[in-house]
Amino acid sequence: MSRIVLASSNPGKLKEFGALLADSGLEVVPQASLGITDADETGLTFVENALIKARHAAQASGLPALADDSGLCVDHLDGAPGLYSARYSGGHGDAAANNARLLCELDGVPTPRRGAFFICVLVLLQHPDDPAPLIAEARWHGRILTEGRGTGGFGYNPVFLPEGYTQSVAEMDDTLKNRLSHRGQALALLHERLRELRHA
Ligand code: IMP
Repeated sequence: MSRIVLASSNPGKLKEFGALLADSGLEVVPQASLGITDADETGLTFVENALIKARHAAQASGLPALADDSGLCVDHLDGAPGLYSARYSGGHGDAAANNARLLCELDGVPTPRRGAFFICVLVLLQHPDDPAPLIAEARWHGRILTEGRGTGGFGYNPVFLPEGYTQSVAEMDDTLKNRLSHRGQALALLHERLRELRHA
């Protein structure tokens, strides 16, 4: 496999994938550059939505497709915003409003009960009818701050404090985030699976 389509239109994710896949030997084509629009995310889980996105992009492009479905799950909110992370405040992708709603929902909740994790599920399909997709999942644990800190990256970065660190994700440099993050870890697992298959 040399050319694959990336089933995402999120500029923050595209930037991270660009860095994470720079040495992969793959030519990664964002779906928007092929005129492919976002799939309807009708699944009830991250893995279902990642499969839907990958299948849609593979179908529309005729190329193998890599999709990511990701989000933030907060313990105190029974896993919300979860699948609805991008549109938690109503409008799709309004990060400032999403963060404001999250901080409001957690108002007064003490530090030990502010646990949360980012999750990323990656799906790689060789073609739309591929019955054996490669799937990799990773989680990044931490807690939700009482106010946002930093400006780097996208989404919930300013309000998420990773376990073992004193900086919010938005205060980290890109290299550190990509090494630690749910997306970086899931991609490392996917690389591993690809390597195993090549040598099987
Ligand atoms: P998706 O495009 O449906 O997978 O939406 C994922 C949403 O989860 C994003 O729009 C962000 O709100 C949030 N999210 C996922 N990964 C990250 C991350 O690395 N940093 C901050 N927010 C993230």
